[in-house]
Amino acid sequence: MKTNSELNSGGAAMDGLDHLRDHLFAIWRGRSAIDGITPNGLWQFTPPPDDLIRQDIAPNPAAAATHLANWRDGLDSRTAPLHQAVLGALDLVHWQFAYKTSELENRFFDHYAFFELIGPTGHFRSHQCNVYFGYWGPHLFYPAHHHEAEEKYFVISGKAIFAAEGATPKELGPTDETFHASWQPHWMTTGTKAVLTLILWRGAGLGDGPILCAK
Ligand code: ZN
Repeated sequence: MKTNSELNSGGAAMDGLDHLRDHLFAIWRGRSAIDGITPNGLWQFTPPPDDLIRQDIAPNPAAAATHLANWRDGLDSRTAPLHQAVLGALDLVHWQFAYKTSELENRFFDHYAFFELIGPTGHFRSHQCNVYFGYWGPHLFYPAHHHEAEEKYFVISGKAIFAAEGATPKELGPTDETFHASWQPHWMTTGTKAVLTLILWRGAGLGDGPILCAK
């Protein structure tokens, strides 16, 4: 069976993940009219990778994905196209959870999930940076965690309060960004709204997941 990258190179059969990649890259390369990232904060964090290889990864469902699939109203006009590109890939997405069910309250796993679009285990393999899309439903507390890689959060839709050690907590909405340094503990709280985020990692530790900080 041909891989999707082979099909793409032949100019055929783009799927939802290919479209999401292309939409993201148009933003990342500064060809998109998202006001909040001009000059382009994504590019400043890390340039778009040039080593992508499409992987044949089976979809993995998540309860949270059903909530996300129904989230079509109240979008910010600047980020709605990216939000819709994520929805367009949902049938193909391999959702991940990063934590064991013993580590977080059960409710968390019904209202949270992320997927790795780009990275060492992503739908598009890269060793230059990681790109995740993460969803958290309303009224969730994501406890303090950290990781070696440096991180950029970019809010696509909804809002949440982002907090990090040594920083003042701030409520971020569409097009807002925040940065976490290597091993800087950070945590997040949602209120009445869910939040959909784009998450970029750079530097060392791209193959490692986040770790909850000791209480
Ligand atoms: Zn993080």
